Amino acid sequence: MSRAIRVAVPAPLHGGFDYLPPAAGPAPVPGARVRVPFGRRRLVGVVTATSTEPAVAGGRLRRIEAVLDSEPVLPPGLRELCTWAARYYHHPLGEVYAATLPVLLRQGRPAERRPPRLWRLTETGRALDGADLARAPRQQEIWRVLADAPAGLTTAALRERCPAPADTLRRMAAHGWIESVAAAPAAPAAGAPTPALGPEQAAAVGAVGSDFAVHLLHGVTGSGKTEVYLALVERALAAGRQALILVPEIGLTPQLIERFSNRLATPIAVLHSGLGDAERLDAWLAAREGSAGVVLGTRSAVFTPLARPGLIVVDEEHDPSYKQQDGLRYSARDLAVRRAQIEDVPAVLGSATPALETLHNARRGRYRHLRLTRRATGADIPAVRLLDVRSRKLSEGLSEPLLQRIAHHLEGGGQALLFLNRRGYAPALICHDCGWIAHCRRCDAALTLHRGGRRLDCHHCGAQRSPPAVCEHCGGKELIAVGEGTERVAAALRARFPDVRLARFDRDAVAAKGRLEDLLAEVRSGAARLLVGTQMLAKGHDFPDLSLVGVVNADHGLFSADFRAFERMAQLVTQVAGRAGRGDRAGEVVLQTRHPDHPLLRRLLESGYDAFAEAMLAEREAVGLPPFGHLALLQAEAPGAEAPARFLDAAADLAGDAAGVELWGPAPAPMERRAGRYRFHLLLRAGRRGDLHRFLDAWLPRLAELPGARRVRWAIDVDPQDLI
Ligand code: ADP
Ligand code: ZN
Ligand code: ZN
Repeated sequence: MSRAIRVAVPAPLHGGFDYLPPAAGPAPVPGARVRVPFGRRRLVGVVTATSTEPAVAGGRLRRIEAVLDSEPVLPPGLRELCTWAARYYHHPLGEVYAATLPVLLRQGRPAERRPPRLWRLTETGRALDGADLARAPRQQEIWRVLADAPAGLTTAALRERCPAPADTLRRMAAHGWIESVAAAPAAPAAGAPTPALGPEQAAAVGAVGSDFAVHLLHGVTGSGKTEVYLALVERALAAGRQALILVPEIGLTPQLIERFSNRLATPIAVLHSGLGDAERLDAWLAAREGSAGVVLGTRSAVFTPLARPGLIVVDEEHDPSYKQQDGLRYSARDLAVRRAQIEDVPAVLGSATPALETLHNARRGRYRHLRLTRRATGADIPAVRLLDVRSRKLSEGLSEPLLQRIAHHLEGGGQALLFLNRRGYAPALICHDCGWIAHCRRCDAALTLHRGGRRLDCHHCGAQRSPPAVCEHCGGKELIAVGEGTERVAAALRARFPDVRLARFDRDAVAAKGRLEDLLAEVRSGAARLLVGTQMLAKGHDFPDLSLVGVVNADHGLFSADFRAFERMAQLVTQVAGRAGRGDRAGEVVLQTRHPDHPLLRRLLESGYDAFAEAMLAEREAVGLPPFGHLALLQAEAPGAEAPARFLDAAADLAGDAAGVELWGPAPAPMERRAGRYRFHLLLRAGRRGDLHRFLDAWLPRLAELPGARRVRWAIDVDPQDLI
């Protein structure tokens, strides 16, 4: 019987699929992409083995249609990571590869760098006068934009700035005014001055070797963690190696990219979700061929191939954005650690507020614990003061004492930041007569008022509508906006401080491209002195004149159904408090609460995050929750409630008495209906990780055969972060 080639195809299939070698040409090597027939479709898969005993009789195997790579598309270390991730997250290997590869490679494009083409003015073009083109306003605008960008612009970048239809560009090129040239590789930047490291920073740098070890860089806000990363990256580059730096979604700001590129004499491949397909492929290939010394990116950048890996850094390692919530539900932080082990390079996990899992690993000695206890600039970390607002009259969520502190800081020339983790105008619209609440028709959730109350948005499914004129239940005419979001707090502050410029930071306010940069520049220049924002303001930013931070409301973090909510709240409060008093002005932080006696809240504010974390760890240990137990969440959803409930009941029956694994549920998800689908959960918990995975290995493949499996959408989430 002839031997077969096994291909991991992007389909919900574990294992792989066997094919015959292509009719002509050389057989593919393991790790190469191939195009294969699959049902009635054609898919691009990755070869995992080249000489296997076929799973079905050889005569019925189909043939590989084309071999797309003569070399493996991924280096061996990364393939090993994919195989590991497929096993750990119980996800089909072909889909793991698909999640790893840039879109264009998934579609079968050649894995070759094609430098992007740039438009720029020719010498003739530069000699023109804008007025020459007065009768062709489109051309005139293109001319003006290109005159401002001597280095050239890609077609996409040009079109962001002005309309630039292809035929207009062609016409201008035919006149010899503009030309399209291949982009030169990014020039290594000049070295900006390096500050002398402080003793704790130097000790941290010295503690990181060149072999595999995981380090928790636990440094208070502003302690100079980024300087430690930079020193380690410089060292890796000097040794001829590359560094991979992961940052949270909202941490990848132009300032950070600039800070890295001003300091490091190497091209930096920046990978984030806003890239176009061609740009992403080019950055990915630059990392794979080794011409980019540094890869800087968000979650999915953990899968970037590196020719000569030397260092992996995860900044703000506690950040929830490292967890992918659909498809391959991976933790980029955990995969980064695993990857460092596979590649035998050091990993550095940095945070002022480490995740409990990470602290636990450091306490057990699995991670080296490096501490930076002081701010690099010598400034003090401000203490957080509780402001009991139970008996106070609040105006749009703000108490009079807080307003007075704001006035005081503004008068003294400082800046004030108000933090509220809720965007929009108000979180609910309620009928004064009967208590009816405007709900989303497709979700079990109240609609949020936006635009000063002129629109209702669902934050869970994106539905939008205009607010009803009267109550939909009783016809009452008095509908009240209850509670406050960033829009409302910003409006109240504008009314109270009409002469002070305010900058609002939330997903709505910075939706337009470039808006975030503009706002940050206003704050840095001192033009804007009042800041209102969500967690977007909690990280990374260094505003030297910011002297007051007010936490408008963090109480919803105290009593959430999610056992991680309190940890998250503590991290956010600590991070946002850390924005205050970074420069010469002493910082002040005020937290408004209706629960001033909450024991964990007191612990956090009186003894700091580390002591709080100890208390939380003790609680988790007592109940066997992570990091003292291991969880997996089987989720099922369907347009009706019955199918997912039944499916999970059957799944639980099938589990029987699983050794070492407890089943919690099935139960409706805390938000039972979302986007028109009913959602149910079955939570699995094990004291030992091995027990959980052994169980999942045996159990999951059988779920697809359950009678109701085809009527629901189901998925397994290993190490779930959100239980909503
Ligand atoms: P973190 O990443 O811990 O928040 P940063 O690396 O951004 O801290 O440093 C905070 C501030 O301190 C920055 O303005 C940085 O330029 C400055 N800084 C960091 N290390 C030093 C140092 N060794 N000497 C002087 N200034 C430093
Ligand atoms: Zn009513
Ligand atoms: Zn909805």
